[in-house]
Amino acid sequence: MSKAHGIHQEAVIIDGHCDTMLSIMSRGRHPRSPARDFFEKSEAGHIDLPRLIDGGVTCQVMALYIEPQYKPTGSARRCLELLDAFYGLLGQSENFALATRSQHIVDAKGKGQVCGLLSIEGGEAIEGRLSLLRSFYRLGVRAMGLTWNQRNDLADGVGEKSAKSGLTDLGISVVKEMERLGMLVDVSHLSETSFWGVDRVAERPYIASHSNAQALASHPRNLTDKQIEALAAKGGVIGVVFCPPFVDDQKANVSLSRLCDHIDHIKKIAGIDHVGLGSDFDGFGVSPESPQVMKDVSEMPKLTEELLGRGYTEDEVKKVLGGNWLRVYREVLG
Ligand SMILES: [Zn+2]
Repeated sequence: MSKAHGIHQEAVIIDGHCDTMLSIMSRGRHPRSPARDFFEKSEAGHIDLPRLIDGGVTCQVMALYIEPQYKPTGSARRCLELLDAFYGLLGQSENFALATRSQHIVDAKGKGQVCGLLSIEGGEAIEGRLSLLRSFYRLGVRAMGLTWNQRNDLADGVGEKSAKSGLTDLGISVVKEMERLGMLVDVSHLSETSFWGVDRVAERPYIASHSNAQALASHPRNLTDKQIEALAAKGGVIGVVFCPPFVDDQKANVSLSRLCDHIDHIKKIAGIDHVGLGSDFDGFGVSPESPQVMKDVSEMPKLTEELLGRGYTEDEVKKVLGGNWLRVYREVLG
């Protein structure tokens, strides 16, 4: 067994973001992620349970993404439908479980299972009510991105290019209630002003589940060095995203190695304790001829090889693969 293989097998591996629930829900209607059976190995898209197992993943964060056509007044109902679809997966395989606490992830590793952790992508889901936030928490949701790209009643998303208003009073209440409940506040889709609003209000670590470094790729969803420093100062983690435009401005330069340049950069700015994975698998499509980070989640062991090749120690590799996420989950979720 190679050193890389051994480390990959031992590691708790956590991917902080995917959109696979959409392919389970949409039955092929979603252009970015064709339908497939979660329990059958497919060549389509990026994730199914057999490929998660092949990739060595212990915990996959599953986004409950509220598509624009459900906003605003159908958002809570849509989120409940996505939750129902997720709960429909449980019990179909002894290899798949729900994680709501850090210990569940450690237990899943011990049993050789994959577990899913639930995260709302788009705060419209709570329809402006803290009571709905609490209800989603009780249904197992443990993280929420306050916005997708647009403005909502909590904050401005990154797509609002000229907006300067940031977090609303309701948004501030939501951040405080999420911290009280033990939920992760996800800043990945926020406008920069909203980001700084969260940074001011947050008393616990907050996260960027799927964002890269703007110093290396200018996508507006990538974080500036100042943002990376601030997030790290609060103890948070940034999950590096595999979607090509976030990896490099030039399509031709996209590769696993280029993704690892982002890991190097975040390590340099914030230290090794604040970088993890947030693939965004099944949230984007790449034609087979185009350069990409990896074909699908089954190729995750290549990342371990690449990091070791760059001189990362075993301890550092394990932190990037999932150790850092696990630390923050322990701190925030319990
Ligand atoms: Zn996203």
